Amino acid sequence: MSEAKFQQAAHKLLVIPGPIEFSDEVLYANATPGTAYTSPAFIPIFGDCLRMLRKVLFAEERKDNQPFLVAGSGTLGWDAVGANLIEPGEEALVLATGYFGDSFADCLEAYGAKVTKITAEIGGVPNDEEVIAVLKEKKFKVVTITHVDTSTGVLSPAAHLAELIHTHSPSSLIALDAVCSVASEEIQFDKWGLDVVISATQKGLGAPPGLSVVMVSGKAIKTLEERKSPVGGYYISWKRWLPVMKAYEEGKPSYFATPPVQLIYALHASLTSILSAPLSDRFAAHQAASAYIKDSLTSLGLSFVPLHRSIAANGMTAIKFPPGLKAPDVLPHLAEKGVVVAAGLHKAMAGEYFRIGHMGITAVQRERGDLEKVVGAVKEVLSK
Ligand SMILES: *Cc1c(COP(=O)(O)O)cnc(C)c1O
Repeated sequence: MSEAKFQQAAHKLLVIPGPIEFSDEVLYANATPGTAYTSPAFIPIFGDCLRMLRKVLFAEERKDNQPFLVAGSGTLGWDAVGANLIEPGEEALVLATGYFGDSFADCLEAYGAKVTKITAEIGGVPNDEEVIAVLKEKKFKVVTITHVDTSTGVLSPAAHLAELIHTHSPSSLIALDAVCSVASEEIQFDKWGLDVVISATQKGLGAPPGLSVVMVSGKAIKTLEERKSPVGGYYISWKRWLPVMKAYEEGKPSYFATPPVQLIYALHASLTSILSAPLSDRFAAHQAASAYIKDSLTSLGLSFVPLHRSIAANGMTAIKFPPGLKAPDVLPHLAEKGVVVAAGLHKAMAGEYFRIGHMGITAVQRERGDLEKVVGAVKEVLSK
């Protein structure tokens, strides 16, 4: 797509942990004219998105994996797990590393799950001994992991935790909340033996908000098919969406509820760009962006919410305010300099830190200078 076609309006740099900055190509695709969801032009766009998601998540090996793209936000993925995979009264284990793990637990309880929660210390990850002990205690239908908890910036060791779950509770389904990690952290859906990966368009996938992005294993689909009680929801039922997703991937139109056609064009543009280079390069670019931000802020004397760099996300950073400063002393001044960051979110310490997102084009297209602009603005605001 030529650059001359469209150029987005000048705006403040959006570096929150989602929504992120969008490329002109993605926004131009989002301006696709009115198009029927049955249009021969649209069908392969939808099908390609589903196929490209299999690539981005390394989910091409197990042929019975099923991607879902449904209008909604990331949260809808939690509801989908609660409604489709858990029957009322069944046990779920939530490995919580912040606000989003706690909320996932609340959501599963709304569907009648009996939730056990292992809560890591703030900035930490759950400890192996505790996880193993709890896995041995009872049979959990589903175990959830928050890959990057956006409230703390903690990156959970998802591959390692999945291995523990496979070893000590092989029948459990593993659901990874990857809303803030898809396309910024490596996720090996097949190799790690995951059953559900939940995401959304507006973070690492680099498209406007509005689509719930979910990958489901054959084992999870079988669990759904073998339920004793009906799915406790209508729009959320994978049974209704399954034929639609299969049809589009096979090049045929289908209908259950209207898909957000324009947004699917936007996601198509973003996924095409993501897959135009090796994914390993993309993850390395996010690691380099993260190291640049974290090293620069460390040299300003700042410290982080995650307890170690090894468990800090590569797509965002949670930074403690220096003593004596609070969000109103920093965030509005950064905005005056054209840099929009996010306040803290973890209930226990929301006032004590702020968050910078460095996902998507901000991390990958270094020539944009986004990272330098952020560091420069933080430096100026804190030296005042
Ligand atoms: C953003 C986020 C969500 C919620 O996604 P929405 O699109 O805001 O509904 C869930 N989990 C994590 C880890 C997130 O970062």
